[in-house]
Amino acid sequence: MDNRNSIKFIQAKSILSKLSHTDSWFGISYNMNLYRGCQHGCIYCDTRSECYGINDISQISIKENAIDLLQKELSSKRKQKATIGTGSMNDPYMPIEKEIKLTRKALEVINKYKYPVHIITKSNLVERDVDLLEEISKTYSAVSFTITTFDDNISKQIEPFAPSSSLRFKAIETLAKKGIYTGITLMPILPFINDNVENIKSIIRKAKDSGASYILPAFGLTLRKGSREYFYTELDRSYIGLRAKYEAYFQERYICPSPNYQKLQEVFETEIQKCNIKSQMEFYRPKEETQLKMF
Ligand code: SF4
Repeated sequence: MDNRNSIKFIQAKSILSKLSHTDSWFGISYNMNLYRGCQHGCIYCDTRSECYGINDISQISIKENAIDLLQKELSSKRKQKATIGTGSMNDPYMPIEKEIKLTRKALEVINKYKYPVHIITKSNLVERDVDLLEEISKTYSAVSFTITTFDDNISKQIEPFAPSSSLRFKAIETLAKKGIYTGITLMPILPFINDNVENIKSIIRKAKDSGASYILPAFGLTLRKGSREYFYTELDRSYIGLRAKYEAYFQERYICPSPNYQKLQEVFETEIQKCNIKSQMEFYRPKEETQLKMF
């Protein structure tokens, strides 16, 4: 855990935010953030972007009334049953969750009201909630592990306070063995750091051995005001000279694709076919829709 973290309790006004369109990567229609800030300290984290107004993501706020709000919101008969996503602005299984158990309590409510859920995490702490995820799977549950490198030394450098990639692969195995739908978000792939063929091939092979059903790739990263400055400061610390290369290549651009993009995409497509892994997720479909499709 990052020992710079300060932790406080806050009151939230609402807990689910409805997206204007169902998201095309994960099929989610609601976003749920139980915490504000994140303890994993990934050097590339987009949550540091100024547009979100979070000055310092290492300052953690716990939404004290989150479970009451969720209970109220999901019990409403008017609420459309659609996938609740969590894990885009913080990690729902960051270290504080072990003690506070907000994510577990939220899953209990989600299970009670039979809502589908999609979780993104870098933590094997999710294994603790396998019992609940199995139950929710009767409606729909998916857990996507973000894995950016097969090399635990690199993951330590770029995701310093998150569990290692090896532990994440083990967690995939645990979930897959219980029949929980699980896979990998292979992003971001950082130019000149982990954008090489060996990395992509190794992740796909480990994914297959672990029982992952899908891998969603993005061969590059995004940088904008706030996240860019932090990322460059960390490059100066761990990858001497790389900042200049980034500045020359990408200037102020938001989307920074790997210069190896084409090659990596080709390798990715060949390898996932060999390993029988999908490059897209299957989304939740309400039961009536599934039955109608059969006729
Ligand atoms: S786990 Fe996600 S939200 Fe947390 S620091 Fe890393 S990228 Fe940011």
